[in-house]
Amino acid sequence: MKILAVSDQVIDSLYNPAIQHNFRDVDLVIGCGDLPYTYLEFIVSILSAPVIYVPGNHDPQYNPDNSASIAEGCTNIDLKLVRARGLTLAGAGGSIRYQPEGVNQYSQFEMFLRLTRLAPRLAWHRLIKREPVDVLVTHSPPFGIHDDDDPAHTGFKSLRALVKIFRPRYLLHGHTLFYKQNLVSPETDYGGTRIINVYPFRRIEIEHA
Ligand SMILES: [Zn+2]
Repeated sequence: MKILAVSDQVIDSLYNPAIQHNFRDVDLVIGCGDLPYTYLEFIVSILSAPVIYVPGNHDPQYNPDNSASIAEGCTNIDLKLVRARGLTLAGAGGSIRYQPEGVNQYSQFEMFLRLTRLAPRLAWHRLIKREPVDVLVTHSPPFGIHDDDDPAHTGFKSLRALVKIFRPRYLLHGHTLFYKQNLVSPETDYGGTRIINVYPFRRIEIEHA
């Protein structure tokens, strides 16, 4: 199962018809936010793979009546649990709030409330059906893992708790590392979850559980 994950920065070699050749083996594309929707739409139109994504803090606020807030042909999985290519994926977009009117920005408490909407779906899947959540897709990292201590790049404490409780096999995120590039590893194991910073893109191979 081959995944192309993209985040935060448009890469010329992907925003290019050559992607059809260079990434023809990709089964699923995952967007971790802060990307122009035209970029995701280009990728989904060229690769024969579904594109799922969560919005970042530089993306428009989701509004079903505004086509500019939706990546056409792609699936926004913010606070949803979905199946794609035989994997179970969940999503939680947005970053920590650092501007009073910022879009897709949340205080620690606001993110906690958002995740209480996702948690019952994870609990049903994980605890009742006893099946793994393969990939949790987020924009921000959890608090203390791949995050930073400046006001815009602090991770979410409630996200860290969610990971600890439901132990997805993978968590893919973006938003950070730009500032700490080469200083920390982009991959961390946390209680059975492989946490991967995608910025700006990663090829990831995942076995079906
Ligand atoms: Zn961001």
